[in-house]
Amino acid sequence: MSGQILGLFVPSITLILAAAFAGLWLRMRNARHVLAFACAYTIVGFAFLVFHYFASPENVLAMVSVHVSYSVAGIIMFWGLYKRAGMHAPVRLFAAIQVITLIFIATSIAEDDMRPWLYSVNVGHGLVFALAARDLMQGGIRNSIDKVIIWILAVCSAMFLARPVMSIMITQRMTVEVYKSSDYYALLMVFVGVLTLSLAMAMVAAVLQDQMSIVREDSENDHLTGLKLRRPFEQAAMDMIDKGGRQNTPVSMIVADIDHFKQVNDIWGHQAGDRAIVAFGELIQKMVRACDVCGRIGGEEFCIMIWDCEIEPAERLAERIREAFASLPHEGINGDVRLTASFGVATGRSMEGFGKLFARADTSLYQAKHAGRNRVHADRREQKREPEDVPALPPVEAA
Ligand code: GH3
Ligand code: MG
Ligand code: MG
Repeated sequence: MSGQILGLFVPSITLILAAAFAGLWLRMRNARHVLAFACAYTIVGFAFLVFHYFASPENVLAMVSVHVSYSVAGIIMFWGLYKRAGMHAPVRLFAAIQVITLIFIATSIAEDDMRPWLYSVNVGHGLVFALAARDLMQGGIRNSIDKVIIWILAVCSAMFLARPVMSIMITQRMTVEVYKSSDYYALLMVFVGVLTLSLAMAMVAAVLQDQMSIVREDSENDHLTGLKLRRPFEQAAMDMIDKGGRQNTPVSMIVADIDHFKQVNDIWGHQAGDRAIVAFGELIQKMVRACDVCGRIGGEEFCIMIWDCEIEPAERLAERIREAFASLPHEGINGDVRLTASFGVATGRSMEGFGKLFARADTSLYQAKHAGRNRVHADRREQKREPEDVPALPPVEAA
């Protein structure tokens, strides 16, 4: 009786989880990895049921289809996990491993002995889980939920690889009937159930967190350029300045403004103006590193925070952006006309907050405009000594 309940426990939770993933996918149709999780869990749920109720030495079709189902479900799930991490799953390698295990299974069925089945199936799954855990650990960790997923995969892999060792201890021939009525099978079902549930819960949490960060990014980013809006940009810039202060790392700021933009709108129309703003945004995004932060802080005004960067390299970066923009043709604007932009650059001083740094970069931008536009101006003034930097005079000794 308890065996029957256990036999239903794992497929039931697996199918409920499959339904949860399907529900999530309906709300986020472009996240195909979520559909992959739904498919994988559906297949696993049915495979558990088929194994529990139909697997017997006479029912070769059920035995083989169970193994094929687990293998296919595993590959689909890993395809989804790799895709979510922005990686390509080694689907062919995983499939090759599982095809080899299938060949061993044929022996097990012919001799009504579960041991070759146990060895090959578990080594196959163990290898696939271990490879996936290793790959995702190297390239797919973004947050603590990702770490949890990888830990669960590693535990699954260890469990799969330990099972053959445990079954080697059972020296006598083990039929399907003996296997399914053993305490080992009951314990295994509970263990598999807990791992299946934990992995799925972690995956549900990861999918929900992905969704939340998409919504947050959407509210923080400008719809035209995809760059940060003024407020979120300021927050990110303040965080970078704080981090630079703590780690004693220089941070620089570039402020840019497209020249004579009113005329662009007046002559070629607002849409052509919008396209030029988009082009400028794409250009700066392409020319900075992932650790830098870009924002559209006004109509045609942009700001870049550059991590670990002194004034000279920041000035050179601004110069490269200026040159690239000045040679860019624009859709909807006469072929031979080129737009230009002016740039102000400043490097953070110790104890200086965002406001003062921005004011210095903006003053440099104003000077670049004043000097004729289409140029870079950097604030190279020496840092004024703050009163606390002045060494105190030694105390006058009493005569
Ligand atoms: P300057 O060289 O001194 O910067 O001259 P400018 O004409 O660019 O002057 P200013 O910065 O004052 O003008 C900005 C113009 O940008 C005003 C506004 O009509 C236009 N603008 C602001 N936001 C947008 C936008 O989202 N799309 C378009 N097409 N134009 C915008
Ligand atoms: Mg302007
Ligand atoms: Mg402006």
